[in-house]
Amino acid sequence: MTFSEIIGQEEIKAHLQSALQQKKVSHAYILNGEAESGKMMMAEAFVAALLCEEGGAESCGSCKSCHQMQTHNHPDVKYIAAPPVKQVREDIVGDMQIKPYSSPYKVYIIEHADEMDQSAQNALLKTIEEPPEYGIILLLVSNDQRLLQTIRSRCVTLNIKPLRDEVIKPYLIQKYNIPDYEANVLTSFSQGNLGRAQKLAQSDAFVEARRDVMSLSAKVLNMNDAEALDLAKEYSEKYKAKRKKQAQISMVEDREEEEEEISLPEFLDLLVVWYRDVLLYKASQKTSQIIYSDALHQIRTQAGKLDYESIEWIFKSIEKTKRQIYSNVSGEVALDALLLSIKETY
Ligand SMILES: [Zn+2]
Repeated sequence: MTFSEIIGQEEIKAHLQSALQQKKVSHAYILNGEAESGKMMMAEAFVAALLCEEGGAESCGSCKSCHQMQTHNHPDVKYIAAPPVKQVREDIVGDMQIKPYSSPYKVYIIEHADEMDQSAQNALLKTIEEPPEYGIILLLVSNDQRLLQTIRSRCVTLNIKPLRDEVIKPYLIQKYNIPDYEANVLTSFSQGNLGRAQKLAQSDAFVEARRDVMSLSAKVLNMNDAEALDLAKEYSEKYKAKRKKQAQISMVEDREEEEEEISLPEFLDLLVVWYRDVLLYKASQKTSQIIYSDALHQIRTQAGKLDYESIEWIFKSIEKTKRQIYSNVSGEVALDALLLSIKETY
């Protein structure tokens, strides 16, 4: 991974590359951003450049160190995920006392660092306060506020920012050769997260979820209570309330093979996009901004049947359903209530 391969995030790249250029890298960085936002890519681009035998602000891609980085076999780079306190003591604090094998630095990339408990974070603190000259720690987190203040205050925090739609959409069309309407849904759904958009662009699960949203919104027009319950059962079994917890082991190979699946809250997000289209069409009769542009006929029909108040009510109901799912109400129960609530509005 090189900086030039990373789309957007210019500020962070500029910061890190200037630190590399001036040979003033910090001993501890926090890379803060949601899942799939590219924290690992940024970390690896930085480390590759830092350890590259050519020196400079970008890795050369062809020296021994760069090859070792590409194959995740660099002896001076350790990948660790959310380590418990014992592992912090052994694999980071203890291990860092051993000098690097072939580079001027020894780097620890800690994934899900914000999932470390207090004792593990405390164990790490001293190493972050007084690292050996060659020691570098990168903490990859999705919520930096879960790190102890004492840790945060000693690290340079880099916040990964969402990308603009105008950056994501053309990239997806060009890279995956997908039709415009599909790129629209992916772009809107990814909310500035290119990694997520890319993962979804390659996933059958997304195409299917999109189809399910269209079919569900049609069925809800004419269903009885028993059918609503059947649908709730079917979809809550298909879309799980929670995504499977990512493996706590730090196998990079595993990470790449992870199967993308759509969770129930994400499915509901797709449903929100659908009703946003219905609202947009109702308000303007324009089709240029419609995300589900391959389902115009259906959107027109629903826009004709629903009044503004009802659409507003549907948005609120979907939000409420998401909250219920997050607070552990069963997906089936929550979804059933939602379908009945949408049905009432027609
Ligand atoms: Zn190199």
